[in-house]
Amino acid sequence: MPETEPSIFTRIIAREIPADIVFENDRIIAFTDINPQAEVHLLVVPKTAQYSNVAELAVAQPELLAEIVTVAKQLATERANGEFRLVFNSGATTGQTVFHVHAHVLSGQLTEGTLAQQ
Ligand code: AMP
Repeated sequence: MPETEPSIFTRIIAREIPADIVFENDRIIAFTDINPQAEVHLLVVPKTAQYSNVAELAVAQPELLAEIVTVAKQLATERANGEFRLVFNSGATTGQTVFHVHAHVLSGQLTEGTLAQQ
C-alpha cells in the first residue's frame, strides 16, 4: 500500500535525515541499516518512491531490479567476500515496515536464521 507521506528512505535521499551512504547514482542509493542484523547490513533503494515492494518493481522496471542486484554484489565484494543474502520483505506480515521498495544486503558470517525476526 503506497504511503501518503514521504517514506523515511525518500527523506534520506533528500538529505533530510542523515544516513551512512555507501553508494549513490541517478537511480539508486545504498546506506547502512540503522539496526544491523549482520556484519554487513546495507539497504539498496531505488530513488523512485513509485513501488512499495519488489513484485511491483519487477513488473514495471525489471532493469532497475537487476541494477539493485548488481549494486548489492558490488557492495558485498567491497565490504565482505562477495557473497551475500538479498532480502525483500514484501508486505506487513513478512516484517516490511517501510513501503518504499528496498533490498536488504546481508554479508559476512551469516547464520541460517539471520533476519528471520524481521
Ligand atoms: P523492512 O522492515 O524490510 O521494511 O526494512 C526497513 C529497514 O529500514 C529496517 O531494517 C530498519 O532498521 C531500517 N531503517 C529504518 N530507519 C532507518 C534509517 N533512518 N536509516 C537506516 N536504516 C533505517
